[in-house]
Amino acid sequence: MRYLSTRGGQGTDLVDAMMRGLAADGGLFVPDELPRFDPHAVRGESLAEISAEVLAPFFEGTGLEGELGSICRDAFDFPLPLKTVLDDKLFVLELFHGPTAAFKDVGARFLAALMERALRRSKDARPLTILVATSGDTGGAVAAAFHRRRGIRVGVLFPKGQVSPRQQHQLTCWGDNVRAFEIDGPFDACQALVKAAFTDPGLQRRHRMTAANSINIGRLLPQVAYHAAASLWHWRQHGTAAGSIVPSGNLGNGMACVWARAMGLPVREIVLAVNSNRTIPDYLATGQWQPRASVATLASAMDVGNPSNMERLRNLLPDFAELRANIESYPVDDAEIRAQIALDYGRYGEVWCPHTATAFWVYDHLPPARKTGPWIVSATAHPAKFETIVEPVIGRALPVPRALAELLDRPTASTPLAPRLEDFAAEIDAWK
Ligand SMILES: *Cc1c(COP(=O)(O)O)cnc(C)c1O
Repeated sequence: MRYLSTRGGQGTDLVDAMMRGLAADGGLFVPDELPRFDPHAVRGESLAEISAEVLAPFFEGTGLEGELGSICRDAFDFPLPLKTVLDDKLFVLELFHGPTAAFKDVGARFLAALMERALRRSKDARPLTILVATSGDTGGAVAAAFHRRRGIRVGVLFPKGQVSPRQQHQLTCWGDNVRAFEIDGPFDACQALVKAAFTDPGLQRRHRMTAANSINIGRLLPQVAYHAAASLWHWRQHGTAAGSIVPSGNLGNGMACVWARAMGLPVREIVLAVNSNRTIPDYLATGQWQPRASVATLASAMDVGNPSNMERLRNLLPDFAELRANIESYPVDDAEIRAQIALDYGRYGEVWCPHTATAFWVYDHLPPARKTGPWIVSATAHPAKFETIVEPVIGRALPVPRALAELLDRPTASTPLAPRLEDFAAEIDAWK
């Protein structure tokens, strides 16, 4: 399979698209043609088995076809259970049982498993240096996923004093091939420093560097796989295609679901839940694409005013009327998020994180005739990750999941750094 930029340009294969992250023309990589599946013909049962089947066409021409099974087993080594919330009507896909208790673990682990194997075949013997600027969550998932991967080292840059204590712990507890840099400046300074390092000719000559950010095609593919698996599990058990409600920010998770559906998997319809950052629902209502600055909300990982994956969605569905026929989106504000957490705790005994709560709010506000669905809601993070928001709402303390507790027990270390390229470059050069 070839991968093209959303902005035109030359095609390339999966490994090259993954190593680059972004196309040379600034566009996002998309497959030249999506494969089609007959749901009856998919044989696999476990997530790893279904993933290997559904993703096989995406690996054609990489030389890694034979390793796809092992990549899937390596990446999906934690459960992603589909559970019933309301008999025959409402189900929840729990995506948060990975090492940092949020669904970004899935994409990051798959990317790490794939990169490690691609590097073994590379002629360049230098280590691959991955640099990530993080405002909190993404960096932890990337650090966890790449920890102790051979031939790879990871530098995580975070803004001093601006991440929560638990987030900071998840960024700084790794050691070995992972280093945390505490930058004396805001998140923008971290991002600017990573960008400056990537474009510095000297560093470029001396090191092999790449990013692992959320628009990487290697992070999107495993998300296609779990939407495919969940839709098949439901369809096999109940004989119906479920709709999907996806809490959305940068639209990676939602885009993956749209691809799964376009590939013939039994996803009936797709609804995106967003927070007060309403760029997507406003676009669907007016036809005007108006990205804007993000506003801070309780569902902070969805605080995105300019969702980059919209470029992939518009590439798949260039006609606006068709795009609008394929997707719905509704905004949910902070008061509604809190109320939904309290309501569902009271009636189902379930506790959602603020992101997941937006999707359950959207379900609740569908017209009655549409609520029989059936619907699958993606739960994107464990509520204990957002304990300062969730605990006051439900009036009790949440137990910390085991994986997260293990991380919080590890010792931490980080390197304080001024936001200056020469200091950062010296650290990269001296890195052993
Ligand atoms: C990143 C994130 C989202 C948003 O996912 P996108 O793929 O960016 O739309 C939702 N919930 C949580 C917990 C996240 O970390």
